[in-house]
Amino acid sequence: MIEWDVAKPSQLKALLAEHGFSFKKQLGQNFLIDERILQQIVDAAELTSEDGAFEVGPGAGVVTQRLARIAKQVIAVEKDRSLSAILQKSLEGAGNVDVIFGDVLELHLPDIWKQFSTCKRVSVVANLPYYVTTPILFHLLESGVSLHNVIVMVQKEVADRLGAGPGTKDYGALSIAVQYRARVEKVVKVSPGSFLPPPGVDSMVVRLRCLDKPPVEVSDERTFFRVVKGAFAMRRKTLLNTLSGSLGLSKEACARLLQRCGIDSNRRGETLSLEEFASIANLLHNCAFS
Ligand code: SAM
Repeated sequence: MIEWDVAKPSQLKALLAEHGFSFKKQLGQNFLIDERILQQIVDAAELTSEDGAFEVGPGAGVVTQRLARIAKQVIAVEKDRSLSAILQKSLEGAGNVDVIFGDVLELHLPDIWKQFSTCKRVSVVANLPYYVTTPILFHLLESGVSLHNVIVMVQKEVADRLGAGPGTKDYGALSIAVQYRARVEKVVKVSPGSFLPPPGVDSMVVRLRCLDKPPVEVSDERTFFRVVKGAFAMRRKTLLNTLSGSLGLSKEACARLLQRCGIDSNRRGETLSLEEFASIANLLHNCAFS
């Protein structure tokens, strides 16, 4: 039996006050106090009683409580240990929830996913801490774990980047990493007033519908992500300059690599399509360039 319904702002505030909790800006702590948005997040996850849910940053358990009611199993990772007693209260009686205290970026996700072995599918649901949104998304996408839906609350600007295409100002390594694994859907825009305390930016709930198979064939994902990140390491430089530096290739080798892919080495990373990144990564992985 759950006693504290922390989705109700009055109960959330009372529970936080009871434990003398103070928000840590450096941990991106903006707790959700909007039940309408909460419902939209949970609906977007499309969880069934056979599914697992992985939550990054449960905070006081606002989203976690709801996930626990629907999913078979919930694993939540929270960096702030001072939320321990609060989470114990808000999740009292929820026997299908495990909270791990630690930094999600330091977790080996394939090991965590083993604990979901009896779940049909696993989705990620997270109101992300904005100071580490990009590293967390890369961590999830590069870990190789099987994902169904990824529902994340992110800064509106980040949401624009996730779905951006080549040649636009928002297109970057994150857009490619996400579009390699998922279809991006914007769910709802969220204003600062939906959080306690309100952040200084607008937010957006985004659903990443993970694909059964990537849209392009990549022979080695590590090489692919290395090429993608390398191409954007210095945004204003040409591919030849930025890729030779980041991949540790001589200029001559890098020029040959790009030429064999039919890509002009004076182009910039932000103009390359997913297919072009895949062709560079595949050639680099399969042939010796030095
Ligand atoms: N889920 C809660 C909600 O919606 O009210 C809290 C969301 S708050 C935006 C982000 C949460 O992530 C905070 O509780 C914060 O302490 C936690 N957090 C910050 N950095 C983290 C990290 N590296 N690993 C795990 N949790 C983290």
